[in-house]
Amino acid sequence: AAKTSKARFRRYAVELDDRADEEARLGAEMRAALDTGQFHLVYQPIVSLPDGEIRYVESLVRWTHPVRGFVSPAEFIPVAERNGLIVELGEWILRVACTQFMSWLETYGENAPSKISVNVSARQLAEPGFVPVVADALAASGMDPDCLIVEVTETAVFGGGVAVRAVEELHRLGVRIALDDFGTGHSSLTLLQTVPVDVLKVDKSFVDTITEAGRHAVIATALIQVSDGLGLTAVAEGVETAEQAAVLFELGYRYAQGYHFGRPVEEPAFRVAGVAAL
Ligand code: C2E
Ligand code: CA
Ligand code: CA
Ligand code: CA
Repeated sequence: AAKTSKARFRRYAVELDDRADEEARLGAEMRAALDTGQFHLVYQPIVSLPDGEIRYVESLVRWTHPVRGFVSPAEFIPVAERNGLIVELGEWILRVACTQFMSWLETYGENAPSKISVNVSARQLAEPGFVPVVADALAASGMDPDCLIVEVTETAVFGGGVAVRAVEELHRLGVRIALDDFGTGHSSLTLLQTVPVDVLKVDKSFVDTITEAGRHAVIATALIQVSDGLGLTAVAEGVETAEQAAVLFELGYRYAQGYHFGRPVEEPAFRVAGVAAL
């Protein structure tokens, strides 16, 4: 028994080693990818219910590796957070998003999206230079701070400290704050009392089950009540069917995002009429 468990342990150690190697390789390749322009951004619409008109867009990073092909951000963002590259990558993302927003404004005028949101990871938010980087990206592109939404997760602001101070400072600059994946953290409701928040992005997991019989809409209902009560904007994430959209509207949701309305693309269809402010 001792022998097999030793063998098993060795196999486990080798696996861990392989994983560390793979992570180091991926990290090094990301470094090169940043230098050779392998990253680009795609944009997914946030629409108004029930008419489906685009209100604003969320930027999402994409990596096309010359050999691996498409690498999911769910795979490489955590690696970038661990090796610190997210700071530089995140700054690049922010600058590209602001520049793209301004170029749409020029091209589409009143049919351009009214805002753009950018995902910011915990590591970026904790970086002392983060707020000046945001301010500089806005100034360099000529973008109004009101038009930028920074999406942070509950865990990123949970610890208080530097991250919360950064969020407060951004908010003072006029930047909107969205809590991403809302409802999945450990202290969702408490955070609403301690962090300045404008937008609640209600997690896909609460939308997935919304049309099932039983008590599945209970949480989605509670969250829209909290959001309305606090005067926040709720956005339902991951809406994949017309039925889900209809139920959400019924519950009082006015904004949604998901494959049903549009996948993330390089150039969303902005020519639809009547884009109002969020
Ligand atoms: P997230 O911020 O919660 O982004 C939403 C994710 O759900 C995106 O995946 C989007 O493509 C996907 N999605 C949208 N609608 C639907 C739907 O109807 N059904 C399903 N199944 N999925 C939907 P993506 O682009 O693969 O990004 C995954 C995660 O990676 C993001 O989750 C975010 O945490 C992170 N990420 C992506 N781009 C960035 C970025 O620019 N910066 C940072 N820091 N993180 C990013
Ligand atoms: Ca997000
Ligand atoms: Ca989300
Ligand atoms: Ca997520």
